[in-house]
Amino acid sequence: MTIFSKIIAGEIPSYKVAENDKFFAFLDINPVGWGHTLVVPKQETDYIFDLSDEDLAEMTVFAKRVAKAIKKALPCRKVGVTVLGLEVPHAHIHLVPLKNEGDMDFRNKIDSPDPEKMKQIAAAIAGNFE
Ligand code: AMP
Repeated sequence: MTIFSKIIAGEIPSYKVAENDKFFAFLDINPVGWGHTLVVPKQETDYIFDLSDEDLAEMTVFAKRVAKAIKKALPCRKVGVTVLGLEVPHAHIHLVPLKNEGDMDFRNKIDSPDPEKMKQIAAAIAGNFE
């Protein structure tokens, strides 16, 4: 069971943003910026491009809805999208609010993000999810 499956099962806490029957979105615990969100399929698959065409398409559309909620909840020009997957073997899309190109630099993480602020941001994004 991956750490993300444990989050989805509620065995590990997360700052949840959105969920449907197939996908789950929550804040990255070690964010590159405020509002950095991960979108994951509930069914474990390591590599995103091993998902079926249908599941990949559905995941992208779910991520689009989450990105729209992030854009409404936080000041940004656009929401950046990236896939790394080098650390956790459970497919996920990173969504990061962007003001400039450097905001997507994964070498710069927020140092010890304040849990209260993380909670507020997750609630703001969740409140704008349609
Ligand atoms: P990667 O697999 O390279 O895309 O990186 C995995 C991402 O998952 C990193 O940005 C981590 O900060 C994030 N991450 C790892 N564990 C957790 C967790 N328990 N809750 C939220 N995000 C996590």
